[in-house]
Amino acid sequence: MPKNIVLMGYRGSGKTYTARYLAKKLGRKIISTDKEIKKKICPIKDFIEKNDWEKFREIESEVIRNINENNLIIDCGGGFVERERNVESLKKNGIIIWLKTSHEQIRKRIRDSEERPSLTGKKSFLDEIEEVLQKRTPLYKKAADYEIDTDNKPVEQVGNEILKLIKMKTEVCIPIIAKTSEQAVKDLKQAEKLADLVELRIDFIKNIDENKLEKLVKSKNKKIIVTCRPKNLCGNFGGSEKERINLLEKAIEIESDFIDIEIESDKKIIKKIIEKKNNSKIIVSHHNLKETPSLKELNDKYNEIEKLNPDLVKIVTTAKSINDNFIIFSLLRGKDDLIAFCMGIRGQISRILAPKYGSKITFASLKEGKESASGQMSIEEMKNVYNIDLINDKTKAVGVIGEFAENSMSKYMHNASFREKRLNFAYMPFKVREQELRKFIKNFRKFNFRGSSVTIPHKVAVIKHIDKIDGTAKQIGAVNTIVSSNGKLIGYNTDYYGAVEALKEKTNLKNKKALVVGAGGGARAVVYGLKKENSSVTIINRTTEKARILAKEFNVKFDGMENIKQLVKNNEIIINTTSVGMTPNTSESIINGSDLIKGKIVMDIVYKPAETKLIKQARKAKCSVITGDRMLIYQAIRQFKLWTGQEPDFRLMEKAILSVLNN
Ligand code: NAP
Repeated sequence: MPKNIVLMGYRGSGKTYTARYLAKKLGRKIISTDKEIKKKICPIKDFIEKNDWEKFREIESEVIRNINENNLIIDCGGGFVERERNVESLKKNGIIIWLKTSHEQIRKRIRDSEERPSLTGKKSFLDEIEEVLQKRTPLYKKAADYEIDTDNKPVEQVGNEILKLIKMKTEVCIPIIAKTSEQAVKDLKQAEKLADLVELRIDFIKNIDENKLEKLVKSKNKKIIVTCRPKNLCGNFGGSEKERINLLEKAIEIESDFIDIEIESDKKIIKKIIEKKNNSKIIVSHHNLKETPSLKELNDKYNEIEKLNPDLVKIVTTAKSINDNFIIFSLLRGKDDLIAFCMGIRGQISRILAPKYGSKITFASLKEGKESASGQMSIEEMKNVYNIDLINDKTKAVGVIGEFAENSMSKYMHNASFREKRLNFAYMPFKVREQELRKFIKNFRKFNFRGSSVTIPHKVAVIKHIDKIDGTAKQIGAVNTIVSSNGKLIGYNTDYYGAVEALKEKTNLKNKKALVVGAGGGARAVVYGLKKENSSVTIINRTTEKARILAKEFNVKFDGMENIKQLVKNNEIIINTTSVGMTPNTSESIINGSDLIKGKIVMDIVYKPAETKLIKQARKAKCSVITGDRMLIYQAIRQFKLWTGQEPDFRLMEKAILSVLNN
């Protein structure tokens, strides 16, 4: 538990007593920001009378900024949240816990305190509680990693709830796979700044010996796992088994925090290591590099390892299908000493949801290219894209169902918005092949996932697996959003809304003549939206027959691709809904640049890249342009609202998507 525990709440929420309780239980030091302030200005009451609260807050920020220790219990003054930078400083190395207390309880608890000056300066501090609470409650909510109700609870109960929370927290570990001990020290220093603990893969270090190992372990500042995988178990250690075990025994002697030894090693040796572990903890691990066996087989493996009485069991399999992750989630149920996840790109959701299902550790690479196993994401991605530090057992899982879901950009927009709104959701890629869809939706229901986006090739196929489809999605004939509501899966289509809102940024659509190029899934939503807005639509497509069918269905016109030049001239709005120009074919455009005329509105729904060749041509011809990211953002805004009931911040979503699209 390297992170600080930061207690936050209004005066009288019990921070001081809870801090003392936790400090005693965990053997940690307390820092009270109010006490630190008092060392600088005493008494506070006189200071406030002579100065103002603004001056006080400045001193408070300075105190918070200067906290640079780990492993503390920090008891914060009730008003520190009023400055966002205080929250940012504390979050860098701490978990913020909000002790939520009702107005009545606060009144009761602080009635007798004299040392508390009024915050508003107008009322007594008792009368102002409601007013200040109203102002601060949204700030507390935004800052809190966890909330604990304290009304009518003794300190011990509140403290124990916090201890349970902390104990449950999954730690993020960075493996070090450097080839030399000099590089390992450098990587270790970097990794320690980012992770909860570090795994030293000594099998990667050339000519590793006991001296080098001792130097490395002595240089650590955080908890460390020492692992030395032999070549036959997918490691790199080239020495003899005796040399390998000697190194592990040395790791115990020099008090490494954890030693990892494989269940496939000689059982007598594993037992001996466990017996002689001293202050180290022993992880006994099993890796299946081919597949994810059945839950029964994995439970048998767990029991086989458990019999040896290690401190932690590690079971890692390979996901051949997205559905393998659910076997791991079931395996984790009810076990508090298990590290488990799936390797491979299809196993990434088990790494992201490790804190939800209770894996004690999840792994992330120091940076791209420094992975110790397949499917391992970088710490940057785990933290900044997937908000791994905020995921817990209450997190609602959402994502995108698609054959190439890993390429979807939506994770950037949704996860940034969940973080900003302090919503306990996590969005991730559900990489599902056509033949896996039925089983995936079954698991989605069983594990109570909250919702999902749907993309190629499942927008139509998914309809038969869900319970209800809303009127618009029915008319469009495709579902791009699923919401789980009271155990039922409901399908929506937000693409049409995205297209219409994007167009409305530049023009009114009523009675406008619009040419839609393409007749695929995207085109269906665009044509539906344009019809709804009373535009006059013509569809053209490479396969004219598809244009004819779509035009008939929506009662609009169609034409042949050979007439594109004339059609571009005759229409006021031109929309590309084909995939032409999409990465990697960025030099292609469905329209000849010289056919574009000044004053036309040109929209490309392709968003990768945002500046497609068509958009560049249109800009050159002085047309008004709408890039694909506009539709993407608007459709995501609708999805977000369907899942959470809240309106996300448009600018934040825009910033999140543009920062990756322009990279
Ligand atoms: P889709 O259903 O597979 O349809 C593809 C369309 O592109 C078809 O009309 C196809 O014509 C046409 N096409 C493909 N290659 C072509 C070529 N070389 N020359 C001429 N036409 C070609 O795909 P979709 O779901 O509609 O997606 C299409 C594009 O829109 C993708 O880039 C997707 O990322 C993007 N999109 C963006 C958003 C957004 O929010 N911005 C939303 C949805 C889709 P045929 O019928 O002749 O095969």
